[in-house]
Amino acid sequence: MAKYEIVTIDGDGIGPEVCQSAITVLKEACGSDLLSFSSHEGGADHYVKSGHVLPDDTYAACKAADAILHGAAGMPGVTYPDGTEVGNDLHLRLRFRLDLYANVRPIRLYQGVDSPLKHFQPGQIDYVIVRENTEGLYASRGGGIVLRDELATDTIVVTRKGIERVARFSFDLARSRTGAPRDGKRRVTVCDKANILRSYAFFRSVCDDVARSYDDVEIDYAYADAITVHMLKRPDTFDVIVAENMFGDIISDLGAGTIGGMGLSPSAELGDRHGLFQGAHGSAPDIAGQNAASPLATILSGAMILRWLGDTHHNGTLRDTAHRIESAVEKVLAQGEYVPRDLGGKASCTEMTQAVCRALA
Ligand code: ATP
Repeated sequence: MAKYEIVTIDGDGIGPEVCQSAITVLKEACGSDLLSFSSHEGGADHYVKSGHVLPDDTYAACKAADAILHGAAGMPGVTYPDGTEVGNDLHLRLRFRLDLYANVRPIRLYQGVDSPLKHFQPGQIDYVIVRENTEGLYASRGGGIVLRDELATDTIVVTRKGIERVARFSFDLARSRTGAPRDGKRRVTVCDKANILRSYAFFRSVCDDVARSYDDVEIDYAYADAITVHMLKRPDTFDVIVAENMFGDIISDLGAGTIGGMGLSPSAELGDRHGLFQGAHGSAPDIAGQNAASPLATILSGAMILRWLGDTHHNGTLRDTAHRIESAVEKVLAQGEYVPRDLGGKASCTEMTQAVCRALA
């Protein structure tokens, strides 16, 4: 019997293609004994058919699983009466119901990738954005008001408990890393607008409180506007960045842009008991069903599943296998024979998947 059960939700657009690619690579890397996969419905297309974006049985399976692998969700035009997109609700509901409070987005430049930041080499951009995932501005989704068709409100909400746990997560993560590429210092950069809003000043002060228990990790601060410039001019000074939900959402797309784009950017949404893993990109309906998507972000998210399971279950084999998958992706990119279309190449989703599987051998 397999040791760890992974629930998969293909979702919409390119979701099924990239999710199946990641499963293929995980099976190749782990063999048949370690993981089992069970596929479940969910997403915007499923909402159109059934009226449910996250069916009850899918939620129950997610709750019982060891980890959740998701392709992508969302279709343009499938919206609620207030105009917001239905697809996003799949992972938003999982986020809140499974309390996935830390959204981990590694930003790492691989060899063979043409970064728009010409002064930086592979190894010089290697940091992690930790986006607070259950509070902040997005916590009030659905709770804002539009009044007299003249004004609209959405309210930012942050709590000491919520900030403390994501800050602690970020400092622990920094402890497990080797520091910022430029100076080798373990560092957590707090991204906020503490100069403008009380909620962000509170966010910063709670991070300061947590930092006192981590003498070996430096704390550093950057306003959310200024950090966009630092991420372009001196990305090698970052190690771990912790940010409020919306700021984390925005800066992680910018970070992805600096290392080749969304097609290379994995993501893990972690709580104390559950983990949801998916590429940081959306469902890309413009290229869906054409075998044109890059599966690399989802494959790297699959590697994050193994590392997270390895850490939480103290299993070195899982951690080693995560590293093998990342090295295989790195090798394929460095060799340059197969280049996905979003990086300017011609390789299809299946060709990229097969190339990664061969590199694992
Ligand atoms: P969301 O709001 O759900 O994040 P989005 O509409 O902002 O989604 P995406 O769906 O990520 O954006 O697509 C943005 C662009 O990036 C599209 O042109 C899409 O084709 C491209 N893209 C996204 N993911 C991939 C991928 N894995 N491979 C190739 N191209 C991709």
